Amino acid sequence: MQKSQRALDNHALEFAVEQANRLRQPLFVFFFLNPGFPEAGLRHYVFMLQGLLETRRRLEERGIPLILRVGDPPEELSKAAAGASLVVTDRGYLKVHREWRSRAAGMLSCPLFEIESDSIVPVETAYPKEAWSAAVLRPRILRLLFAYLVPLETRGLKYPAAYHGDGGPDITDSYAAALSLAADPAVPPVEDLRGGTAEGLRRLEIFVEEKLDRFDLDRNNPALQGVSVLSPYLHFGQISPLTAALAAAENPSPGSEGFLEELIVRRELAMNYTFYNRDYDSFSGLPVWARKTLAAHQRDPREYVYSREDLETGRTHDRYWNAAQKELTETGRIHGYMRMYWGKKILQWSSSPEEAFKTALFFNNRWALDGRDPNSFAGVAWCFGKHDRPWKERDIFGTVRYMNAQGLKRKFPMEDYVHRTEEL
Ligand SMILES: Cc1cc2nc3c(=O)[nH]c(=O)nc-3n(C[C@H](O)[C@H](O)[C@H](O)COP(=O)(O)OP(=O)(O)OC[C@H]3O[C@@H](n4cnc5c(N)ncnc54)[C@H](O)[C@@H]3O)c2cc1C
Repeated sequence: MQKSQRALDNHALEFAVEQANRLRQPLFVFFFLNPGFPEAGLRHYVFMLQGLLETRRRLEERGIPLILRVGDPPEELSKAAAGASLVVTDRGYLKVHREWRSRAAGMLSCPLFEIESDSIVPVETAYPKEAWSAAVLRPRILRLLFAYLVPLETRGLKYPAAYHGDGGPDITDSYAAALSLAADPAVPPVEDLRGGTAEGLRRLEIFVEEKLDRFDLDRNNPALQGVSVLSPYLHFGQISPLTAALAAAENPSPGSEGFLEELIVRRELAMNYTFYNRDYDSFSGLPVWARKTLAAHQRDPREYVYSREDLETGRTHDRYWNAAQKELTETGRIHGYMRMYWGKKILQWSSSPEEAFKTALFFNNRWALDGRDPNSFAGVAWCFGKHDRPWKERDIFGTVRYMNAQGLKRKFPMEDYVHRTEEL
């Protein structure tokens, strides 16, 4: 278990149960804690460990021990799997996830199955190459939904193990356990977002009951909480996109289509990007037109140029931007609409677009609980033209889409947003 850290609606887990039953063998779930995972801070480890603690309990109820080991995942897996009949793993779309799986495949002496459990429509099935935009991917995904948006049946394990061995480090105190994993203590845990499947499901239920019908009307307004706040739970695989999509599809309302567009099409467009574009984490992954136009405007005078430190501590002339940065550092999230504005302004206030790209990605991944996700790379890249089209030419941005504070003020009660973040 690596990307889909849950006992519910987990295709990799159910496949593993089926295989164990077929082979008349017990099933063990291993999770490898990787100290010093790139850009992971205390808040990420705490959130993840809270989720794993619950997943361990849920798996034990099904007769499946969850065993934790600390170290390099492929090496630990090859030790753990000595004598195993087969190994099943879930799927991840970032370089590090793919590298772990391919190294593991080379080290194991038994078959290794990788089972898609993080997307609704598997990336290669949806589209065989990098999609230019959501418009390209959307019809292909929608055409296949009938086959993939189907409930997953829970299988019973027939030959459970009586395991009394070493379950690995104690994670009951998630804070202490996270500290021992050398997580960056400068990025403190987020108090009001607790990790785990139960909390993710609770938020999903509240969202579907109270917010889904107004999703299209409220989601962009930063002063409201009209969105689901599911992204950290999806990022750590504590809830399945299938669970969330079925909940929205089974409760048809005016907001269902818009929510499914974000949850399936936009989210899987980000997976498509990280899967097919090896440069997804750098400026060179952007489309040629965007790089060209930004380069042509690289020397345009900038009214404001801020250092990383000024930006990170939210000390700019722009109260809306500072509020968004504060929301990010204090709560581990930024309202979705502000996130676009936030990235666009980093581009505007940095000495070069390449520098801006690095800064935005670094802050996003360092502070956001849902950071280091395919969505993180696609979201930052979008601010620099990815999955978008050229717009009217202007300074610094060239033909990359621009956003300004006047637009925010005209559309939303921005003072309410600033006031809310000041109270954090
Ligand atoms: C600069 C920038 C950085 C971003 N970084 C991240 C990130 O690190 N992690 C992350 O999960 N998302 C990221 N996004 C996408 C989006 O902002 C968040 O997914 C969304 O705000 C999460 O809030 P929510 O769960 O309440 O979303 P909701 O609006 O309730 O949507 C439900 C789910 O749909 C998916 N989704 C929503 N919007 C998008 C989108 N634009 N692209 C892809 N999937 C989407 C998410 O999984 C989300 O949880 C980024 C966007 C930008 C512009």
